[in-house]
Amino acid sequence: MQTTGKAIKPSVSKVIVIGGGIGGLTLAHACIDAGISVELYEKRQLDAMLHGPGGIFIQRNAMRVYKILCSGKIYKRFYEQGGKILKGGFFSKNGTPLYINSPQFVGEEDLGVCLLRPELQQILYETLPSGTVRTSIAFKDFEEAGDSVRVYFSDGTTAVGDVLVGADGLYSKVRARLNGKERLEEPLYSGTCCWRGYFDGENIPLDKQYSWMEIWGRGNRFGYFDVGGGRFSFYAFNNSKPGGSDDTVEDSLAALRLIFSDYAEPVPSIIAALDDASIYRDDIFDRQPKSGEWGRGRVTLIGDAAHPVQPNLGQGGCMAVEDAFELAKLFVGSVSNDQVPSLLRQFESNRSPRVTRVFTTSRQVGQLGQTDSVIGCFLRNWIYKLTPTWLADLQFQWLFDYQPSWKK
Ligand SMILES: Cc1cc2nc3c(=O)[nH]c(=O)nc-3n(C[C@H](O)[C@H](O)[C@H](O)COP(=O)(O)OP(=O)(O)OC[C@H]3O[C@@H](n4cnc5c(N)ncnc54)[C@H](O)[C@@H]3O)c2cc1C
Repeated sequence: MQTTGKAIKPSVSKVIVIGGGIGGLTLAHACIDAGISVELYEKRQLDAMLHGPGGIFIQRNAMRVYKILCSGKIYKRFYEQGGKILKGGFFSKNGTPLYINSPQFVGEEDLGVCLLRPELQQILYETLPSGTVRTSIAFKDFEEAGDSVRVYFSDGTTAVGDVLVGADGLYSKVRARLNGKERLEEPLYSGTCCWRGYFDGENIPLDKQYSWMEIWGRGNRFGYFDVGGGRFSFYAFNNSKPGGSDDTVEDSLAALRLIFSDYAEPVPSIIAALDDASIYRDDIFDRQPKSGEWGRGRVTLIGDAAHPVQPNLGQGGCMAVEDAFELAKLFVGSVSNDQVPSLLRQFESNRSPRVTRVFTTSRQVGQLGQTDSVIGCFLRNWIYKLTPTWLADLQFQWLFDYQPSWKK
């Protein structure tokens, strides 16, 4: 069902969103569709906001949200730009298939779309009415006053709304201020670092029957996926201490060559095709999600600000998309403005079990993928090989059961 704000009577008139990542931009769309005025503030300049390393899986659960929002325009653009998520799976480093899945396991033609991050950001931004996003303005603080919240920015300006939403990522300043702090405590290091980037698939011996592959070694793994237009995004994880750098081995390309030297094709050919300048390395973190509620009064959080997860399921951004829709949906209907704080707490406790499950499952998949003992790797690969596909599929089915709807 396609519903727009014209058909709905919202309970709040203005939402202030902090952060122009996937969560904040999607929330802006959801508010507009729900007939709510929205102002989004982003601390970076527009060019930087529209940037980002490598690609991202927008899986079926999140794609269902985009099918509803913006008259399906974003959904259509994603398919035109990106690569469909089709058959793919986990492999051992010598190329033996361990687990292969295909979209049929959830009765769909595809499991969603993968896009390069700048292209995803561009589409989400371009499809918003101009003036919605205000860049180069950093959130500083907030103050609640009766039936509104006043927001203070570092350039000295202020804004007033019915609700403030922190969609400002892993180091959320809104979350810090909710806790009465200037800075948020450090997140939890996963024990791995990750390199990301993209390459042209031409002349590389990719197995065309798979749109994505993740290849498991000892304490490291290498993955790639189709992002449309003959291009592919890659990622590579390696167990390492936090704060590491590639300088000791010259550069990222040299580090990848060294770590993945004993992987079968297509990994060596992919690495040979990479341009060092386009490779981005960072450490991987998460935070234990709070059970129940994570906001206060008229202030809440979505996406990584509320529940950053490890990227092993490719669902962190998808959870931000689900959050955005579920939050806007609660504002719709004949509820009074003074009910807003309790609606926000309802949103948080509704979302908490699902995001906690993603957090836990993501850690478990990461532990398996990053196993580094010989015996551990042997057992992992053997169990995956012997597990029937239908049984392995079942462990991910709940992720794809999400069916967004404006109906309450
Ligand atoms: C290696 C890797 C691979 C991943 N792969 C996937 C995947 O395939 N699929 C998937 O769904 N997820 C994936 N994720 C997770 C995903 O990237 C995040 O969950 C997602 O980007 C979170 O979106 P967000 O909008 O909540 O936060 P962010 O994307 O972090 O956006 C926050 C925004 O807030 C802005 N901001 C910060 N502070 C302020 C301030 N004080 N004032 C104003 N603005 C501010 C920032 O500049 C930024 O633009 C991956 C993550 C990693 C690390």
